Amino acid sequence: MIKKNICDRSWVEIDLSAFRKNLSILKSYLEPHQQFMMIVKADAYGHGAIEISKIASEEGAVYFGVANPEEGRLLRLQGCKSPILILSPCLTSEINVILDNDLAVNVTSLNFAKALNKAAVVKDKQAIIHLKVDTGMHRSGILDSEFSDFYSQIQKLSNLNIEGVFSHFASADDDIEFSNQQEERFWKVIDQLPERPKYIHIDNSHALINKLGKRSNLVRLGIMAYGIQIPLQEDLGLQPVMTFKTTLSQIKHISKGESIGYNRSWIADKDCVYGILPIGYADGYDFMLSNNGVVWLDNVLCKVIGRISMDMICIDLSDIDKPKIGDVATLLGGSRLETRAENLVAKYGGNSYELLCQVGRRAKSYFFQNGKLIHSIPLLRRDFVPDDFPDSKLNKIIESAIAQRLQSIEIGEIIYREMLRDFFYYKDRDIHYRHNFHHKIVFSSSLIAGYYNASTLLNFDKVLSNDYFLVVCASSDEVLRRYFKNGDVEYRWLMDDSFKLDNESFIVCLVQVDELILETSIKHINDCLEIKCSHPKLRGKIGKKVHFTINTQTLYPTSAHQFSVFITELTRGVDITFQYPQEIKEVDCVPFFSGQDKDPLITQNNREIRVSTELNEWIFPISGVVFAY
Ligand SMILES: *Cc1c(COP(=O)(O)O)cnc(C)c1O
Repeated sequence: MIKKNICDRSWVEIDLSAFRKNLSILKSYLEPHQQFMMIVKADAYGHGAIEISKIASEEGAVYFGVANPEEGRLLRLQGCKSPILILSPCLTSEINVILDNDLAVNVTSLNFAKALNKAAVVKDKQAIIHLKVDTGMHRSGILDSEFSDFYSQIQKLSNLNIEGVFSHFASADDDIEFSNQQEERFWKVIDQLPERPKYIHIDNSHALINKLGKRSNLVRLGIMAYGIQIPLQEDLGLQPVMTFKTTLSQIKHISKGESIGYNRSWIADKDCVYGILPIGYADGYDFMLSNNGVVWLDNVLCKVIGRISMDMICIDLSDIDKPKIGDVATLLGGSRLETRAENLVAKYGGNSYELLCQVGRRAKSYFFQNGKLIHSIPLLRRDFVPDDFPDSKLNKIIESAIAQRLQSIEIGEIIYREMLRDFFYYKDRDIHYRHNFHHKIVFSSSLIAGYYNASTLLNFDKVLSNDYFLVVCASSDEVLRRYFKNGDVEYRWLMDDSFKLDNESFIVCLVQVDELILETSIKHINDCLEIKCSHPKLRGKIGKKVHFTINTQTLYPTSAHQFSVFITELTRGVDITFQYPQEIKEVDCVPFFSGQDKDPLITQNNREIRVSTELNEWIFPISGVVFAY
């Protein structure tokens, strides 16, 4: 098989549909009173914590388990709103991250509990905690014999909420008798508690399948959801979620008696063909697979020959009919038994958990759903490279980077939303800015008492994006606001509400694009005049920079005493002129410019006031000027 779409030399494929299917198989073992926590520590055993969490959530996960506060924080930053439990003991130095991100924490020491409580009091929060009983694993946790004492000490701390009590099996996969003893100890402890916490949990995947922990109400699912089976057990139909692939990058011949690789550990017993795959132990392909691993290439199982190097391995191509450079090799996973993690690690006495965590640490991950590529995530060890991210993720990064820099999520959000989002919100819309922006407003005496004639002339250059555009006129700010985000609108006017909106009160005198005089058609909808400007020949100008001219005529109340011009798009070079009749004695102007030049040039001349910037000055949206008279 020659690969398509993916250009990397090696990559990880994550089959989210397989993950979903595995979950549904495992869920069928749950008791009606049981829910499950999805364990996503170590980036979901190398599968991508956020992507896995989303699917698990959809499949009913009520909790997520991570190894440390940083993993929890990352999930939060990426939008996970579900409860998250940190499974291993935490340090007091991590308390702020824990509380600030609303992470539930496993508490196994009184000192830590006191420090956590103190910080929670200061922050006026309730810290959610789960207490761990050591029932025989003898890793973290409070010994069952000391637990009840510990529990009552913790209970005294005002700002700790004991949401769960849990334990962990040492050998749920292969020692049911010992597991039963652990469970007995666990329930003895639980049954003596003054009250039942919300969650009681002890099962991991293997325990669930081995029908342990039936009285608990939460099950912690890990390895089996990722498709790893207990080797000697009946086939449950679980499928590997992760596949690690690479590309045949060189084909060579070796003569009988020559050796391959470091320390000459493999010697050719005949003349043969072999190939180089560009991955090694630095990519997580275990060194112990030297002269031991197998790889699928074109439906043929090839042996790894010689030692695994840091960045390369060699495979025997003798059985391949016509090997080609660029052929895809499957190193781990896939539907065939030989490359399943369980079977690879059995070759060297390794551990599937480890292999999943380490594989592909130099590769990009691609996510598939129903056989379709839906998403990718970048290499793990890499400084920030924007191209690695799809637009939606990049937007999130920009927003959180601003928030982090300003140390305020709220301000970060508002800057992103109000100032930046418009630039890149519509991902397939290029930024088209206006250049050479001239806006001339002429007020003159009118026959209608209490009003000036207002004539406006707008000129600018811009790339044409459609074969029509709109001029809109509304009598309320609220209605007009609806058109702010509409990229089809080139001119907006707010009409005094004493007027009836019609084609007498607001007249579009001339609309021109380059030499073309456009046709206008007026629609009165949504309390607004929508004037559509079009021309059959505009189509030929789409994508080209054109010159817009828009001339309107309307009335403006003398009693308003002010008139505002808004710049709603990114604009380069601004020139706004306001001319006024004799009866206006004095005009003041207040520009509010965001951009490089916050103080545009203001010149005043015989009944004319002008606000302008240099031709190449960038002015950001939501700038403008108020003329007061
Ligand atoms: C990792 C972990 C699990 C998940 O175990 P699997 O064997 O992967 O199902 C469950 N509980 C705790 C406390 C863990 O650390």
